[in-house]
Amino acid sequence: MDIINIKNWGWEHLKDAHPIVIAGPCSAETKEQVLQTATAVANAGAHILRAGIWKPRTRPNSFEGLGEEALPWLIMAGKLTGLPVCAEVANAAHVELALKAGVDILWIGARTSVNPFAVQDIADALKGIDIPIMVKNPVNPDLELWIGAIERIYQAGIKKLAAVHRGFSVYNSDKYRNKPEWEIPIELRRRVPGLEVICDPSHIAGKRDLIYEVSQEAMDLNFDGLMIEAHIDPTCAWSDAQQQLNPVELNETLMKLVYRKEYSSDPIFNSQLETLRKQIDGIDLQILKLLAQRMEVVRNIGEYKKDNNISILQMERWAEMYKMRTGKADDLGVSKEFIEHIINAIHQESIQQQKQIMEEHLIKVTEKRS
Ligand code: PEP
Ligand code: MN
Repeated sequence: MDIINIKNWGWEHLKDAHPIVIAGPCSAETKEQVLQTATAVANAGAHILRAGIWKPRTRPNSFEGLGEEALPWLIMAGKLTGLPVCAEVANAAHVELALKAGVDILWIGARTSVNPFAVQDIADALKGIDIPIMVKNPVNPDLELWIGAIERIYQAGIKKLAAVHRGFSVYNSDKYRNKPEWEIPIELRRRVPGLEVICDPSHIAGKRDLIYEVSQEAMDLNFDGLMIEAHIDPTCAWSDAQQQLNPVELNETLMKLVYRKEYSSDPIFNSQLETLRKQIDGIDLQILKLLAQRMEVVRNIGEYKKDNNISILQMERWAEMYKMRTGKADDLGVSKEFIEHIINAIHQESIQQQKQIMEEHLIKVTEKRS
C-alpha cells in the first residue's frame, strides 16, 4: 500500500511531532467543555484534538453523543488552538455531516470496523475525498477484519491512513477494560508496512491510573502516537468518566513517558547487540532442533499406539505433563502463561503428527478392503 504518513497529512507541526498526541474528551458535551478542554490539552502537548460526536454505547439509555449540534464546537476548538480536529464516524451520514462541518480527520470506531457493510458504506461515502482516516481495531481480536477495514478505505482512494489500537473486548476482563493483545498490532505493522499505528491507552486501560503504564508499553513497542481521552473535569464526564485524564494529568503523563529510539547510531552498542543477537539465533536453532527431535519420538510413539490400537490422547498423561511443565515456571524465571502457550503448541503439533500416522494407516486399511 502506498500510505501517506501522518507527518505528511498537511499540518506543519505534525512534521516532527513524535509521538503524535491526539487528545480531547470522550464526548463533546457542551460548547464550554469542548473549548476549555481543547485549550488546556493543546497547552498540555496535544497535536490533534479529538471529541466524540456520535457515541456508540454498549447499552441503551447511556449518553449517545449530541450529534450534529456539537460539530461546530469542535470546529471552533480547532480554530481556537490552531490544531486539526478529529471525530468518529459510524455511517455515511456521519461522514457527510462531518465533512460539511469541516472536521479535518475522521476515525472509524471499534464497533464499526467490526462490520464490513458499515465500513464499505463509509468507504463509498469517502470516494474522491482527500481526508485522513484512522481505523480502530475491531472489538474482537481479528487481524484480518482490521486489515480488511483498512483495505476498504484504501480502495476508496484514501492514502492518508493510520490505525488505532484500542484493545480487544473480553468477557470478564480483569486488569484492563480491553485486552491489549500487543502481538496483533505488531503483526499488523509487519503485514502492512508503512502503516502507522497509534495506541489508545484510554480504551485499553478503562481506568485513569493505568493510562501511564499502557502508554509507556506502547512507546516501548514503537507505536507512532497516542490517543488519550482528556476532559476538563473527568469525574463529571457524560461518558467514560473513569478513564479520562484532566489536562494536568495528561501533561504529567506525557512528561513522565520515556521515549526510546528504535535504532542506535552508536557502533559499540550495535556491535554488542549483534553479538548478543547471534547468541539468540544459536539458541533458537537449538530449540528448533530439539523440537524436531521431540517430534521424531512422538511419531515413534504414534506408530506404537497405532499397532496396539491405542488412542492418541491419554488424558491422565497429558494432565500430569501439563502440571509438571507449568510447575517449573518459577524456577525457570518465566511466567506460567508462557509455559502454557509453549506446551499447548507442542502438544497440538504432537497430536497432529500422530493423527497423520493413524490416518495413513486408515487409508491403507480401506485400500486393502476395496
Ligand atoms: C472513543 O474513542 O470514544 C470510542 C468510542 O472508542 P472505541 O471505538 O475504541 O470504543
Ligand atoms: Mn470513550
